[in-house]
Amino acid sequence: MENILLCHGGVGSKNRSLPDMNGIAKNGWNQDPLTSVVNAIVIMEDDPNFNAGTGSVIRIDGSIQMDAAVSTPGRFGSVIGIEMVKNPVIVARDVMEKTPHVMLAGSGAIDFARRCGHKPYDPKTPRSIEAYKKMIEGIKENMTENEKYIEFKKLIDSGLIEEPHDTVGAVARINGKFAAAVSTGGASPMMRGRVGDVPVPGAGIYCGDQGAVVATGIGEDIAKRVLCYRIYSKIGSMPLKTILEKEIGYFGETLAGVIAVSRNEMAYFSNGSMGTDLYAEKI
Ligand code: ASP
Repeated sequence: MENILLCHGGVGSKNRSLPDMNGIAKNGWNQDPLTSVVNAIVIMEDDPNFNAGTGSVIRIDGSIQMDAAVSTPGRFGSVIGIEMVKNPVIVARDVMEKTPHVMLAGSGAIDFARRCGHKPYDPKTPRSIEAYKKMIEGIKENMTENEKYIEFKKLIDSGLIEEPHDTVGAVARINGKFAAAVSTGGASPMMRGRVGDVPVPGAGIYCGDQGAVVATGIGEDIAKRVLCYRIYSKIGSMPLKTILEKEIGYFGETLAGVIAVSRNEMAYFSNGSMGTDLYAEKI
């Protein structure tokens, strides 16, 4: 039996090499599983190579709205469309630990973050600004959000602009206890207010007494399949890796990846390149 912290850096883009995952799990490691997963996510949110926290993708309207979630068995906290904070995952932990709620969205999430001491912080980077500039070239003033979305989608599909896939996630099993965390700037192109799988319990994240599961990929499809709870509910019925392979198999060409730990296994699987990092300790 081992204590394990397993991290991913998103199911990958064809156009760019994967962010270097080296040492993230080791540096995030803590004897408390929740602290371990949050630490690992903070390291990746602070690294501009990932699409989470600093480096998050800019939406069609020019804003950055981020989603993040944390969970331990029976507990959950998430933020939806949060803006101008450095570490959405810490705000999600604050939602879980300091409020009677499980999800806070939009301006309410920002107000709460400020009350918890999260200072205003702009997560834009030269790379995300450059990508946004490329995206809005050729967009006419009078286009509706929907027309702009269709234009951006064409650019992405033709390979002219890169679709970011570097969402981050982590699961841990430490001394028999589980935790999971996930954070994203979202998929691209995105309208303001779009919410993916990440902050929705059972969709992009699930953690219970039998394990922890976190997903990455096209949030709309992951949410429709309630992917993480679906995987969790099958734990014990077959090897964990087989469950992941079967469930990702339903996605066909649609990008999806999962990392998971159960009482005695750990597994990761994706249908596109996905960076992972693992720290394990014998007990
Ligand atoms: N699942 C994320 C979202 O749709 C994106 C990703 O994992 O790449 O918001």
